Amino acid sequence: MSRRGLLQASSVLGGGMLAAACSQVPGRSSFEAAPSLVPIRARTDRIIDIAVCLRPFRPAGPRVDTERLGDMLIVHNYGHGGSGWSLSWGSSARAVRLAMQGSPTEVAVIGCGALGLTSATLAQRAGARVTIYARDQLPLTTSARATGEWTPDSRVALADKADAGFGTVWEDMARTAFKTHRDYLGLPGTPVEWVDQYSVTPPAPPAGADSGASSPSVARPALDFVSYRRRIADITPIWRRVPAEASPFTAASVARSEIMIFNIPDYGRTLLNDFFIAGGQFRRAEFTSPSQIAALGKKVVINCTGYGARALWRDETLVPVRGQIARLIPQPDVRYGLVYRHILTVPRRDGIVVQSFAGGEMEGYDVTDETPDRAEAERAVGTLAELFPSARSS
Ligand SMILES: Cc1cc2nc3c(=O)[nH]c(=O)nc-3n(C[C@H](O)[C@H](O)[C@H](O)COP(=O)(O)OP(=O)(O)OC[C@H]3O[C@@H](n4cnc5c(N)ncnc54)[C@H](O)[C@@H]3O)c2cc1C
Repeated sequence: MSRRGLLQASSVLGGGMLAAACSQVPGRSSFEAAPSLVPIRARTDRIIDIAVCLRPFRPAGPRVDTERLGDMLIVHNYGHGGSGWSLSWGSSARAVRLAMQGSPTEVAVIGCGALGLTSATLAQRAGARVTIYARDQLPLTTSARATGEWTPDSRVALADKADAGFGTVWEDMARTAFKTHRDYLGLPGTPVEWVDQYSVTPPAPPAGADSGASSPSVARPALDFVSYRRRIADITPIWRRVPAEASPFTAASVARSEIMIFNIPDYGRTLLNDFFIAGGQFRRAEFTSPSQIAALGKKVVINCTGYGARALWRDETLVPVRGQIARLIPQPDVRYGLVYRHILTVPRRDGIVVQSFAGGEMEGYDVTDETPDRAEAERAVGTLAELFPSARSS
């Protein structure tokens, strides 16, 4: 992958430190040896799921502020684009601080995705009795269909539309979230873990040969999405080139880093179980207007409705950004992620996630169609199979 390609990939994946690191002199040590990686069985008959969801993107950045509805204090906490899981604890910590200003004994949370569950948990920890009201629980929410990577600045705002001071707010949210995700490492079910991630660039084709037209280049973003990774460089593992003799892949260029991943089914279940153990209540409810929320008669409500806030709160600044992931049958021994020809893999415990990002950050922008695209998933798996020829017969 070219330096520009790495940069673009890194901004899509949220790995802004990647290009800088790859220009470093490769670190060599006598301990460096080629690790033997278990090959991914990249076959289309192993696709067990194709999931599509809409990222709730706000050009100004997520909405975390308050509004009065009669006697009721509404705290908004929605619009986290491609960073909802990553920023969840940090954004919810800000929302819960606003909600607890008057020391309420009871708090209602609307929404049961990443933001609703983390808001509910933090409100409980702050001493409130909490009821979640939502149309869907995990695993039916958008949050259940996310890739599951630490990508705190992925499609989270536009540089020329972000609220003044948003960079500083973002940094606070990212650092708080990072620390709290860390508390879920090493737990049964592995809700959160760190894995190696490889970026593999295929060798250049010989002169005159097919230049690989099947590998689309990452489209240049038409919009200027914010990129804040340098603000948290101290907690962001850098990418290092892997010397050829220590590389598990025969490719022109291989770089390795580490990334925090979220095993979403287990993270969601852990959060939901902990919420119930702490006395939380869940009520299934669908609201079509704020007046129905007012009718709940609660004093403090945290609104974590994600893209649902567009209709419910008439927030037309919310832009849907369609995204699709496919999952291959789990391979417990595959404990590394990959970036290869605009394909990303994440070794989740519930299946190996395969995602195409050929369209760059603009892919799916303002698209509301949530129909799974099997052909896209098969193309992505087919590209991945180039790295694992033995997978065709295994
Ligand atoms: C393909 C894809 C990959 C992604 N990958 C990542 C990733 O790797 N890392 C990351 O950090 N983020 C990722 N994201 C982004 C992340 O999924 C979202 O930012 C996050 O899920 C938003 O969470 P939420 O709780 O705000 O919304 P949701 O999960 O949508 O939850 C909203 C809740 O509100 C309820 N609700 C909505 N409207 C109403 C209503 N009118 N009445 C009652 N209830 C209502 C819903 O039922 C639901 O319970 C990805 C997104 C996509 C699409």
